Amino acid sequence: MNTSISKPPIQKNVNLAPFNTLGVEATAAQFLTISESSQLLGLFREGFFKKNDPVILGGGSNVLIKSDLNQPVLKISIPGIEVLNEKEDEVLINSGAGVIWHDLVSYCVDHDFGGIENLALIPGTVGAAPIQNIGAYGVELKDTFHSLKAFIPATGEQKEFSKKECEFGYRDSIFKNSLKGEVIITEVTLRLQKSPHQIEDSYYALREYFQTNGVTEPSIKDVFDAVVTIRESKLPNPELIGNAGSFFKNPIVERSIYQKIKAEYSEMPSFEAGDGKIKIPAGWLIEQAGWKGKKVGNVGTYKNQALVLVNHGGATGEEIYQHAMNISESVKEKFGIELAPEVNVIS
Ligand SMILES: Cc1cc2nc3c(=O)[nH]c(=O)nc-3n(C[C@H](O)[C@H](O)[C@H](O)COP(=O)(O)OP(=O)(O)OC[C@H]3O[C@@H](n4cnc5c(N)ncnc54)[C@H](O)[C@@H]3O)c2cc1C
Repeated sequence: MNTSISKPPIQKNVNLAPFNTLGVEATAAQFLTISESSQLLGLFREGFFKKNDPVILGGGSNVLIKSDLNQPVLKISIPGIEVLNEKEDEVLINSGAGVIWHDLVSYCVDHDFGGIENLALIPGTVGAAPIQNIGAYGVELKDTFHSLKAFIPATGEQKEFSKKECEFGYRDSIFKNSLKGEVIITEVTLRLQKSPHQIEDSYYALREYFQTNGVTEPSIKDVFDAVVTIRESKLPNPELIGNAGSFFKNPIVERSIYQKIKAEYSEMPSFEAGDGKIKIPAGWLIEQAGWKGKKVGNVGTYKNQALVLVNHGGATGEEIYQHAMNISESVKEKFGIELAPEVNVIS
């Protein structure tokens, strides 16, 4: 890794529409692309972090930019995938925070390293993956996570975080809570398996796919292909219609609350969430509240999945935010359940 200290160029008044998958038009007063971690130290030494509280941006696939930003935006584009340590049965893979997550998944599947194939095609960067402990098709980042390196803007230090220190939860980590805005992730290391792999195919959609396609003993490449095919058929492509994936988290409620709602809505889907609690799909709640496929002004919910808010073109961040609040209020009114945004709201 390059240890020389340089400063990134500063661009002024940059339109952020190409940098957020909701396609919201907003202007960043200053925009800096970080392509190596030493640039962060360069900025620290000239007092940048004392004067500014920058917005950290990866691929912009999990943010709602509510308004123009007076604070600088740091776009993390640190590249590089490296095998750190290879044993007979496992391998440690280190990746720069700016690597596109799906490129890392493809690299691992191509090299027959197993563990993240179920997370194929999740948009965004490697550096953002720990922030909400990305998850899909029965797997979460934490299952293969080893450690990460982060720059601490307040002190100029580089700190390593173990899995335990990241305090991962469902779409959650310490970086969304007590360390929110306090760290800039520069590298992530994963522990992956070499063949024979443990395949996670218990998810209904995966099993159905393998049955239809006559796959009896899926390999990690089969899982990767299945996930890519299923996701492409189900989720809106942000290049075609602006969206940030699931806008809200699936609420986890006490069993007594679940039972009360279930008595009235026997068809309500649900999942055990541990500690006797129940997870209810937020998309179902939103659909029941009458929002599925509904368009209001330039904003709406996706026709096939009410949990995804979409920008039909020209929506402002404020408009999308207001729409999300209206949805959340009507779900609260109908079911008494508070929806928490999964998307990070920036203003
Ligand atoms: C179509 C679609 C499908 C999706 N499907 C899934 C899914 O199945 N599962 C899932 O978990 N998510 C999903 N997402 C959400 C999103 O892809 C993930 O949250 C992803 O990890 C965000 O990465 P990003 O680089 O775009 O982060 P950004 O949107 O740029 O940032 C997200 C948050 O992380 C912070 N951040 C970003 N990079 C860093 C860094 N290097 N250091 C410190 N903080 C940082 C930002 O400040 C912000 O708060 C989906 C999104 C879309 C658009």
